[in-house]
Amino acid sequence: MLRKRLIPPRDIFPIEPWRLETTRFNPELLAELLGPSETAFALSNGYLGMRGNHEEGRPVREPGTFLNGFYEHRPIVYGESAYGFPKVGQTILNCPDGKIIRLYVDDEPFDLERSELVTYNRRLNMQDATLRREIVFVTPTGKRVRLATCRLVSFHHRHLAAIRYEVVAEDADVEFTISSEIVNRQNLPADTSDPRMAQGFAGRVLCPQGQVAEGLRAVLSFTTLSSELALGCGMDHAIDTECAVSTNARAEDDFAAVVFRVRGEVGKPIRIVKFLSYHYGSNTTPEEVRSQTAWTLDQALEEGFDAVHERQRVHVQTFWEHADVEVDGGVTPEKQQVIRWNLFQLLQASARAEGHGIGARGLTGQTYEGHYFWDTEIYVLPFLIFTNPAMARSILRHRYDQLDKARERARELDHPGATFPWRTINGYEASAYYAAGTAQYHINADIIYAVRKYVEVTGDIEFLHRYGSEMLVETARFWLDLGGFSDRDGKRFVINGVTGPDEYTAVVNNNYFTNLMAQENLRYAATTLRVLQQDRPEVFATLQKRTGIEDAEIDAWVEAAALMYLPVDETLGIHPQDDSFLDKEKWNFADTPEDKYPLLLHYHPLNLYRHQVIKQADTILALFLLGDQFSLEEKKRNFDYYDPITTHDSSLSVCIQSIAAAEIGYKEKARQYFDFAVAMDLSDVGGNMLHGAHIASIGGSWMCLVYGFGGMRDYGGNITFRPRLPDDWTRLGFRLTVRGNLIQVEVRPDETSYMLRDGIGLAVTHEGEVMQLTPQAPMVTRPNAEGP
Ligand code: BGC
Repeated sequence: MLRKRLIPPRDIFPIEPWRLETTRFNPELLAELLGPSETAFALSNGYLGMRGNHEEGRPVREPGTFLNGFYEHRPIVYGESAYGFPKVGQTILNCPDGKIIRLYVDDEPFDLERSELVTYNRRLNMQDATLRREIVFVTPTGKRVRLATCRLVSFHHRHLAAIRYEVVAEDADVEFTISSEIVNRQNLPADTSDPRMAQGFAGRVLCPQGQVAEGLRAVLSFTTLSSELALGCGMDHAIDTECAVSTNARAEDDFAAVVFRVRGEVGKPIRIVKFLSYHYGSNTTPEEVRSQTAWTLDQALEEGFDAVHERQRVHVQTFWEHADVEVDGGVTPEKQQVIRWNLFQLLQASARAEGHGIGARGLTGQTYEGHYFWDTEIYVLPFLIFTNPAMARSILRHRYDQLDKARERARELDHPGATFPWRTINGYEASAYYAAGTAQYHINADIIYAVRKYVEVTGDIEFLHRYGSEMLVETARFWLDLGGFSDRDGKRFVINGVTGPDEYTAVVNNNYFTNLMAQENLRYAATTLRVLQQDRPEVFATLQKRTGIEDAEIDAWVEAAALMYLPVDETLGIHPQDDSFLDKEKWNFADTPEDKYPLLLHYHPLNLYRHQVIKQADTILALFLLGDQFSLEEKKRNFDYYDPITTHDSSLSVCIQSIAAAEIGYKEKARQYFDFAVAMDLSDVGGNMLHGAHIASIGGSWMCLVYGFGGMRDYGGNITFRPRLPDDWTRLGFRLTVRGNLIQVEVRPDETSYMLRDGIGLAVTHEGEVMQLTPQAPMVTRPNAEGP
């Protein structure tokens, strides 16, 4: 169901394929646009993230500086608790803000809202990952000043950010005071009306543990109250000017400033480079993190801004060489810009996330408390697997590192094996609402699905042997115990009391998605172990030592998978979303006004649960993920049934609906859903862009392009294509890395070409025809087929 109107971003962001730019500062629209623009202009390297707040520190909607995995415990308080409810959650912390550089001209503060601006330009350059501003303003006494800033969060040094700040008096000498600061703001207010928002803290959570101020450097350190993490953050500067300068530095508990007082002479620029460094760790001391912070600053100063910037440019260039997607034709040019911004968000969310997961909003906002969900495995990993396999490995390895905690959680819930948390930072379940949290056991199968895709597409069998196989054993054990054999339909394996992806239906029996994905999990576990037993007995022996796996268990998995209950409703010819779904009354959409969406903010969950109303793609997602098990007719019947009752109140939905529509030949619908998916943030479709970018939807819009219009499938690691361009597109180009080969795919209305750009060669299938791409014959072109 396509509900909302799409507001084109054009009037806010001029069309520029490689840039996101604003050319005017509009105080009237500030209330509306400030928050979203802080997300749009956020910079991040996957470890350190900074919202696009202005250097002056105001105007500001949500100041944000985040470190992946840097969190505080938060007690989860229940009116009525029960056994197994998590009692302690985790919330990503907003770190001390080092972006701030305040400017005073003749002792008057420069303030964007109150100053007379002559020119204003702010742009995110997606070719070198910098955020630049150029501003000319007139002071209250009529003096003209030019200000230029350039900010980056380094991909090369993940603990480093840098700001180049240049100010010049244009027509009269002035006194400049430039105060470069780090400010620890405690207890930012939280919005308690929306359950998706991060909860605030009642008291101080970052406890000051010493500061140093010396020369142009200041370093602060803190420890968290309860999560036992130590944080160091610091800044150092280099200044270059012909004007007379005096400086001083000071540091207090929650504040540090390095102040430059400069006699600004007409036409003589004052150039300051501010380097910022953030380090944190557990099992460490404030002294140690302060030292680490200082070392990063030393190194940055030695290299200088230009070298850091050049490395940034090279890193981003490499990214685009592997991940760019180009579109031409009836699509308006802004689409290219929006697509690039989306891809750029995926880079920013993941590039240096090693040792961590990827939060639902990356590091652009605090919504969902910085938690890692299934969003990572199902929506983001496909992109990473095909564009940056090393990072995909690292993310999956991070899940493996949390396996012991998943085992602990399974014990707590009285199951063998392991069950991964629905949402978490540190590996422990942090979901306060079990019906849409713990009950989403499908996350276990989602993780295994991603492991399998990773192994098959990259050929990294070693990952499977060292880590994946252990995850397989523990998740398969868990499924076998969670479900059970029943007399239903002869003898079947059923899984009761679960929630599928659709959070408007909860705690049901035999959610189709869950059963299908669990079946795959069980099968993959059994086949992998049988192969290991046979071909790699030494690997199997190690696994046996670690898990105590026995032959009979593997047989039981095979049996459970073979007998998995996967019903078809004969009358409708569809797969019921769960046992009771089709018995429920359909939601009254006709009488639901637009302002009642998302329904979760306006109706009690029970009202939703007792109706056929879907928050996000559920059965349709299953039919896409494991699509080789279904016929096109089956997919079409299911789409026709579920699409009209799907609200897309979750941003994870329209992208899947677009891919499904593309496959069954609903071209226009596929394009319309894609338009929503790709513009989820820049057109602020959900109205909550100010709280951060929707990383899963962004990953999903890449899938729309590659799996949807590109018609790529990767079942069993075989790469096949059935391209279906929207009618008014003239070209779709994308790149994929498969088992070390970089291929470029160019889809045109009538034909598609495949080109091997790097690697030893690869077989790809186009419309059923298998073709070899080799270094000697790197390119083939074939006509596209008609119809679905
Ligand atoms: C969706 C979940 C998703 C979460 C975080 C929720 O609204 O229903 O599927 O994992 O957001 O993005």
